[in-house]
Parts: sequence; C-alpha cells; structure tokens
Amino acid sequence: MTNNSHAEVAVIGGGIVGCAVAYYLAEAGVDCMLIEKNDIASGTSSKCDGNVTIVDKDPGFDSKMSLKSQELTIDLKKDLDLPFEYRELGSILVCDTDDEMQAAKEWVDTQNEAGLKFNVLDQKDIRNESPYFAHDIPGGLECETDSLINPYLFCYSLIDKAKQNGLKLQTFSEVTNIKKDEDFHIETTRGTFTAKKVVNAAGVWAPFIAKMLETELPITPRKGHIIVGSRQEPVMMRNVMEFGYLMNKFGRERVVDPITAEYGVALVLEPTESQNFLLGSSRQFVGYDSAIDIRVVETIANRALRFYPKMNDFNIIRSYTGMRPWTPDHLPIVSEVDDIPGFYIAAGHEGDGISLATVTGKLIEEMITGKETCIPVDPLRFDRFEKAKV
Ligand SMILES: Cc1cc2nc3c(=O)[nH]c(=O)nc-3n(C[C@H](O)[C@H](O)[C@H](O)COP(=O)(O)OP(=O)(O)OC[C@H]3O[C@@H](n4cnc5c(N)ncnc54)[C@H](O)[C@@H]3O)c2cc1C
Repeated sequence: MTNNSHAEVAVIGGGIVGCAVAYYLAEAGVDCMLIEKNDIASGTSSKCDGNVTIVDKDPGFDSKMSLKSQELTIDLKKDLDLPFEYRELGSILVCDTDDEMQAAKEWVDTQNEAGLKFNVLDQKDIRNESPYFAHDIPGGLECETDSLINPYLFCYSLIDKAKQNGLKLQTFSEVTNIKKDEDFHIETTRGTFTAKKVVNAAGVWAPFIAKMLETELPITPRKGHIIVGSRQEPVMMRNVMEFGYLMNKFGRERVVDPITAEYGVALVLEPTESQNFLLGSSRQFVGYDSAIDIRVVETIANRALRFYPKMNDFNIIRSYTGMRPWTPDHLPIVSEVDDIPGFYIAAGHEGDGISLATVTGKLIEEMITGKETCIPVDPLRFDRFEKAKV
C-alpha cells in the first residue's frame, strides 16, 4: 500500500526548479514527494519572463549549462502531454552605442569559439527584424538556439507527467521545521512527512529551509519589475534584450542615466503567445518587499521608448514583480551538502531559473540515483562558498 506521508525523496518548493527535479526523479522511478506552501508556480516562476536563453549567459560553463538545458527542454516538448507554449525563435540583443557594438562583436567571437550559434547583426539587419526599431540603433547580435516557454504552464505540465509516474503532491503545506535522525522529519502546516533525502528547491526562500538544518545559504532576493502590454501591431516577433542587460546582470559598469542605473533597468521584450508583450526589466536588492514601485515602472517604459519609439501608442495592461534568487558568483547551487548527507540544494538561479530548470532537475536526479552527471557539477557545488568564506 502507498504510504503518503513518506517518500524516498522529498522536494521542497513547487517552482520551476522543484517541478523539474520532481519530474526527472519520478521519471527515473524514484519514490518522490513534492511539498509546496501554496500552489504550484506560486513563487518567482509565475512572476517572470519565459526566456530559455544562452544569449545572456557568460561564455564558458554558464553558456554550456544553458545549452544542455535547451536540449533537454526540446526533449520535454515531446515527452510532456500538456503544451507549454514552446517557441524556438532565437533571440537578439540590441546595442545602444558604438562602444556597446564593439563589445557585442567580441561577445559573438567568444561564444562562437565555444561552439555556440551566435551572429553579429548590423544596422540593416535590425531594421529587417522590425521596422519599429529606433533608426539610430547601431546593431546587435543574435543567438539562434534561444527559445521561449510559458513558465507557469511548464510547471503544471511537468507535475502532470510526474504524477502519472507516481509523484506524491502535497500543496498548501508550508514546511515549518526539519529534524534529522535516520530519516528527515519534515514538519508542515498539514502534518509531518518523512523522507530519506530532501531537495531544497525553495528559490529565494531556500535560506529559511536550510536554516532549519543549521546551514547558511548565500542566496539573496533580487527584485525585478515587469510591465504587461498589448500588441496592437506585431512590433516584435521574438525575444529582444539590450546589451546593457548583461552589464546589469553581471554588475559591470554601464553608461546610462543615473535613474536607469539605480534601478538596474535594461530593455527585455518578450512577445507572448497570447499576443501581449512583457516589458522589463529591473534589478534591485530590497529584501522581500514585492510592492510595485511606479518610478521603476516609468523607468522601464522610458528605456523601452529608446529602442521602440512606437511603444508610445501601445496599451499597458498591468505590472508585477518577482524575486530572483541571487548568488554572489551568478551560478546556482546544485549540490549535496557534505555535512548533511541526503540534503541537496537546487536553488540560486537568479535571472536564469527558467533557462536552467531542466538541466538542474536532471542533475539532481543523476546525483540521487548515482549516475554520471550530464555536465560537470564542480562549479555548482555548495562548498565553493564555504571555501571562499562568504
Ligand atoms: C522579473 C523577472 C524576470 C525573469 N525572467 C527570466 C527569464 O526570462 N529566463 C530565466 O531563465 N529566468 C528568469 N527569471 C528568473 C526565474 O524566474 C527564477 O530563477 C526562477 O523562477 C526560480 O525558480 P525556483 O523554482 O528556484 O523558485 P520559485 O519559483 O520561487 O519556487 C520556490 C517555491 O518554494 C515555495 N516555498 C518557499 N518556502 C516554502 C516552505 N517553507 N514550504 C514549502 N514551500 C515553500 C514557494 O512557495 C515557491 O513556490 C526572471 C525573474 C524575474 C523576477
């Protein structure tokens, strides 16, 4: 008889990362439970964009990890029953100045050397991409393999399949404490569950879960605002970012006005399948405060006008915020905690959790079932921070 209060592995957190972990574990035949304090995708994974990109990744390990995730996402398009608005359109970065254009060319060279499909776009290419772009954009670059998904639908699609493979789903159950002897005893607002192994996939709340086992996690919420607009005309058919987005993300110096710099604003435009568009984005360290700040919304809108003067004629529907789980070295933690055997972390994906969820889920499944991992996992180890004494 099935024991619904015990599982071999308990995954805490039903965001995109926890759902991917649960999917791959269930698919591998592991007895698995997912515990979520609200409903599926109620955290950052429903308050974000849906870009599955390499274009914004640091060349090297970061971009290779993203490529693996893109490949796995294509497989899931075939394996999952519920569609999740997967669109493989490629994405582009546009430059604001000639200096950025020079940096963009170097970025393309480096990514090409790493075997990734990047192309330089000149001014004419940009005009061909959309007649609504501002006339003075010097050019940009393109990544051919980038795609878009609807993260919210993706989470539900993963869970649907995982349940078919035996996943025990425990929603509206907030984990309040964890004790460990031979098993982990996971106390929740809906009773206590036991498991041999625990995966902490609680996104920006992962440090609170880790603290229950006296472990410090270097994950900090980095807030982002998004504006939702309606497309009266097909201004853009695929994802567009500005080159300055990379500068903000990696904390590098950027020449923009003080208010744009203060709120970490850089253009990100995502056309949705329902013919709306998502306009971002901002980056701020303001704790867990999720309130909308109209000054940030205005700054995002002004930045969009620099690249798309036509936006002035468009209707804005609403705005929302989400919290990116930031780590000091911009890579997630996908790792067992050496001091607590059986306790795994799958968190800290900052602005890349949609892009990296599938590879994260696969890696945790491989670690737990003792397989060789599909990519090297040393750069993702938890103890890299202990070694660096963060
Ligand atoms: C504005 C914005 C735009 C973004 N755009 C992109 C993008 O285009 N591409 C990309 O790759 N990434 C993007 N990101 C980043 C991406 O959204 C995140 O990295 C990702 O959603 C994190 O997923 P997660 O599963 O780790 O966390 P979450 O989705 O937050 O899931 C964590 C879950 O844990 C649950 N939880 C917390 N505490 C407990 C508890 N005590 N007990 C039980 N459950 C608990 C929460 O309720 C939550 O559902 C964006 C982020 C923002 C804010």
